[in-house]
Amino acid sequence: MERLATGDMGTLLADCLSAPQAGRDATGSRVFIRIDADNCIACGGCTSAAPQTFRLNEALIAELTGEHDGIPALKAAVDSCPLFAITLHCADGTVIYPRD
Ligand code: SF4
Repeated sequence: MERLATGDMGTLLADCLSAPQAGRDATGSRVFIRIDADNCIACGGCTSAAPQTFRLNEALIAELTGEHDGIPALKAAVDSCPLFAITLHCADGTVIYPRD
């Protein structure tokens, strides 16, 4: 799977400025985070990479805290997941990270 360079991410996020909510990168662009809970094995990779964003609930499934660590940490969380359970999206649902 192809991974985007950090510089490319800013270009992609520029396409997401109309998103109504969710986290923001350093430029103010808005990003949605999705966790596929069915695929979470509670490894803790995302909570280590982005501890303000992710936590494990009582069922040991990753969930969002409502806070955000910033785009570099979110990308690290995506990359840390062995089950590819985390994706970053625009408001229209387009996956912006990772990209195939
Ligand atoms: S990195 Fe993936 S599998 Fe591990 S806790 Fe987070 S969502 Fe679950």
